[in-house]
Amino acid sequence: MRDWEANIRKVTPYVPGEQPKRTDVIKLNTNENPYPPSPKVAEALRQISAEPMRKYPDPEARMLVEAIAREEGVCPEQIFVGVGSDDVLAMIFLTFFNSQKPILFPDITYSFYDVWADMLRIPYEQQPLDKDFEIVARDYDKENGGVIFPNPNAPTGALLGLETIDDILSHNQDVIVVVDEAYIDFGGSTCTGLLDHYENLIVVKTFSKSRSMAGMRIGYAIAGEKLIRYLSDVKYSFNSYTMNQTAIALGTEAALDHAYFEETRQKIIATRENAKKELKKLGFSFPDSQANFLFVTHKRVPAAELFAALKEQGIYVRYFNKPRIDNYLRITIGTDEEMGRLFEFLREYL
Ligand SMILES: *Cc1c(COP(=O)(O)O)cnc(C)c1O
Repeated sequence: MRDWEANIRKVTPYVPGEQPKRTDVIKLNTNENPYPPSPKVAEALRQISAEPMRKYPDPEARMLVEAIAREEGVCPEQIFVGVGSDDVLAMIFLTFFNSQKPILFPDITYSFYDVWADMLRIPYEQQPLDKDFEIVARDYDKENGGVIFPNPNAPTGALLGLETIDDILSHNQDVIVVVDEAYIDFGGSTCTGLLDHYENLIVVKTFSKSRSMAGMRIGYAIAGEKLIRYLSDVKYSFNSYTMNQTAIALGTEAALDHAYFEETRQKIIATRENAKKELKKLGFSFPDSQANFLFVTHKRVPAAELFAALKEQGIYVRYFNKPRIDNYLRITIGTDEEMGRLFEFLREYL
């Protein structure tokens, strides 16, 4: 081995769900929204011209920040935007998780957390979910360098109530606590109301799921002004211009169209509740998801087999070949028609 090889930052990267080249698939594998973005987004896109692209974008993305602040009922100084919440979360790890003590997160959770921790050499300890795949609040009472978990959790869909989040925060007031609310709009209550009580809380949200804009890459953090300033200092030391003009303009339209947002999220909630009934009838069990996906296991047929059979039919779902969850499939909630075709195939196959 050459000397230079010893000094490489070697990492095991995150593996995203497959984005198939075929267009005839029913794509229920990466938790995208089956509905298009707000019609206001399409309208704004038609107005965009190429000429302003010679200039750098607004580094503060002020227009987008203000629209998000209005929607969240906070002041613009409490919002930090990034290229998807993955960018925002990576900046949070870099800025706030600098202790020698391990950060804590669940053993079954968003599989990017351990990737960032490894990449940034942050020690971590994973806390096992209980047998029903629930987060155990008491596991987060120990000394740590920070806490992060999604609510609802992924890929389980299980939701923690605000009392439990308050409980975890009250036992962790000397570290940064991050609540990743990528799926909160599909049934849970946001914990942004706790920001007034806990200056160490950061809530992270995304336009990728409930606002149907995964392809535009927009995410944000909501926290006290002081934490947002620390986060911005690190971001501006890294890359000032992460948000491009188009993302800023189109994200603003999406954030302002509250009526469309309500309409699509209610449709997905209704489809999910119906899917719970249908899948139960077919012999599946699952945690009671409040997200836009269900994490299912079948009483008879192994998940790996079902995954392959579904894929063969052009129905893509997500399978994680990992301890404790290798007999589960994560099925994103699609349109009623897509779900109908899934049930139809399962009825026949099973
Ligand atoms: C989808 C997801 C994200 C990241 O989404 P972006 O597209 O980067 O905004 C973050 N956390 C969880 C738990 C997710 O499922």
